[in-house]
Amino acid sequence: MIVPKKLKFYGIKDLENLPQLRKLSEEERFSIKVAAHVLPFRANNYVVEELINWNNVPNDPMFKLTFMNSNMLLPEHYDMMYRALTNNHSSNQIKELANEIRYELNPHPAGQLTANIPMLNNEIVSGVQHKYKETVLIFPSSGQTCHAYCTFCFRWAQFVGMDDLKFATKESMQFQAYLKEHKEVTDVLITGGDPMVMSLAKLKVYIEPLLKPGFEHIKNIRIGTKSLSYWPYKYVTDRDAEGLLKFFEKIVNSGKHLAFMAHVNHWVELSTDIAKEAVKKIRNTGAEIRSQSPLIKYINDDSEIWAKMWKEQVELGIIPYYFFVARDTGAQQYFKIPLAKAFTIYRNAFKKVSGLVRTVRGPSMSATPGKVAIEGIAKINGEKVFVLNFIQARNPEWVKQPFFAKYDYDNSAAWLDELTPAFGSEKFFYEDELERMIDRKFERVKAEAI
Ligand SMILES: *Cc1c(COP(=O)(O)O)cnc(C)c1O
Ligand code: SF4
Repeated sequence: MIVPKKLKFYGIKDLENLPQLRKLSEEERFSIKVAAHVLPFRANNYVVEELINWNNVPNDPMFKLTFMNSNMLLPEHYDMMYRALTNNHSSNQIKELANEIRYELNPHPAGQLTANIPMLNNEIVSGVQHKYKETVLIFPSSGQTCHAYCTFCFRWAQFVGMDDLKFATKESMQFQAYLKEHKEVTDVLITGGDPMVMSLAKLKVYIEPLLKPGFEHIKNIRIGTKSLSYWPYKYVTDRDAEGLLKFFEKIVNSGKHLAFMAHVNHWVELSTDIAKEAVKKIRNTGAEIRSQSPLIKYINDDSEIWAKMWKEQVELGIIPYYFFVARDTGAQQYFKIPLAKAFTIYRNAFKKVSGLVRTVRGPSMSATPGKVAIEGIAKINGEKVFVLNFIQARNPEWVKQPFFAKYDYDNSAAWLDELTPAFGSEKFFYEDELERMIDRKFERVKAEAI
């Protein structure tokens, strides 16, 4: 039986009196608070009441996904914030300290600030990224938040929130103008934060124009969202639910492919009746659901978890899509997994599942040059190497050209820039070209800013 729920958010202030947290020691509770002054914290009543297994706290994966602990910050950062809070520094001082620490956590990984900004008539198109030829990302300004925040989140620097329909319209017009000029684009990926925190009216501002003449080249509309995991009521019992589903039907009936890119980190997230019902309702509109997740230590670093998750997704009609390596930002030092281990977990999970599940690609690093997958570990002419491959690249010519990095015997490399080319090469094959591409774009943006 599905009972409607009214969304209730929990923020830092609620850490003091959330009854479930009384299971933890006072020290543990305070450490959440310290870390939550640097990394953004938000939970909601669904996550707290139905996803977290409080008998399994603090090791429960859903607890780790939403509640911080002291180790998610580096010891020196943690100590600084701990002292600021216990010595009663002013809220301004605390904010300043938080920002200083955040700057040291690589808030904009993979060249997000300088490299992917599109231009139209010599003006920057805000809220849009165009990195791969056929796909444009749009970040609606009022979708820059989520129903709850994941502790590992790589988008944490964007959670600023803006709530203005007029602004949304202006933003949408700009991005429509950009798309009209770019006939090579087939896919629009609406992302965030989570665009599904937006009302139906706002969502329509971004999507409805794309169904009209002038946008025939846009074949696929994707919505990147964690709402199936964090707030499935959105599609079942919320006030907008019916209208929303009708709108999805309208998109599908216009002839476009509508795809949900569902962020799902653990099988628990789709195990509730309400989540299953949401999946069913969305699929009944003709939309497809694809799933993606990074590999995260303490949350899903076990091939059994992945195999079970993918199998259950396929049963629900969801298509497993990407297996990511956690990005080098925020609390990555806590969550990261060495690349050799990431590959082993992926491979062991892949081995256990049928062909219908083997649509999932990875382990993939979304880095500055593109999405680089570890295809395997091999020995070539006596040298042990990682076999790498671009799934997506800034230059489409780089795709599916295997290249090689030295095997990482001390198990420390967790990201592309920690690998070195194999066979005595000085650089990976794409590096010179990438440097020229980034320089050029950066110069353009700089020139505009002056
Ligand atoms: C992953 C990604 C896309 C989409 O790539 P597909 O392979 O088409 O799913 C587009 N833009 C950026 C920046 C991405 O990271
Ligand atoms: S749902 Fe996605 S964008 Fe939102 S907090 Fe989690 S990882 Fe970040």
